[in-house]
Amino acid sequence: MDRVFFCPLSQNLATHSEGAAHDPVQIFSKSADSIQMIPFSTPPKSWDALFRFIRESRSGREILRQFEIQVSRGLVDIQPYPETLKSQLQHLNQPSNPTLPLGAAFTTDGVQGTLLLDPQGPAGILAPFLVHEMTHSLDETLWSAARHSQTPFQIKAIIFDSECRAYRAQHQFLAEMKAIFPEYQAFCQSWETQLPFLNRQLLPDEIARLYR
Ligand SMILES: [Zn+2]
Repeated sequence: MDRVFFCPLSQNLATHSEGAAHDPVQIFSKSADSIQMIPFSTPPKSWDALFRFIRESRSGREILRQFEIQVSRGLVDIQPYPETLKSQLQHLNQPSNPTLPLGAAFTTDGVQGTLLLDPQGPAGILAPFLVHEMTHSLDETLWSAARHSQTPFQIKAIIFDSECRAYRAQHQFLAEMKAIFPEYQAFCQSWETQLPFLNRQLLPDEIARLYR
């Protein structure tokens, strides 16, 4: 069955038949409870390090707690972007800037969900993207939309509502992390031109333009 893509900026890929599956990314080993700081500009050394970083914020911790339940029930897994999809997205989203991080995407057929991510992205960008996509994964309206036939108008409305919720969660996470790690604030500001939503809450009409 084709999977429906809800995010991010990949609406031109309305459906996508996945190729051979990669090994799922292993997450959620819990160790060390000291403050978890990571190098923001380089790919994460391990997924565990990235998830422990996300856990430093109250909102990230709560989203992870719920997402972990989904994963433990076998409803969702995490995989690196398949190479074919990665090049398609790079072509669609980054024609003028192929170095722009792809981040992550959530896809579901209504029964099973997959969170795709680009492991080569900077950890400081992957973290808020993951929070955004986990918020989609926890959004029952997306699962339900994939299970039932929808008109294009309905799909657009469902995506817009879900994106508003995901950007709100992402912004809350970023605000908490910047308060904990002043260095993270400086890192996000260094991406202001390319990824302005690292530094401020997007307005509804900006979100609507991104996903029209
Ligand atoms: Zn989204």
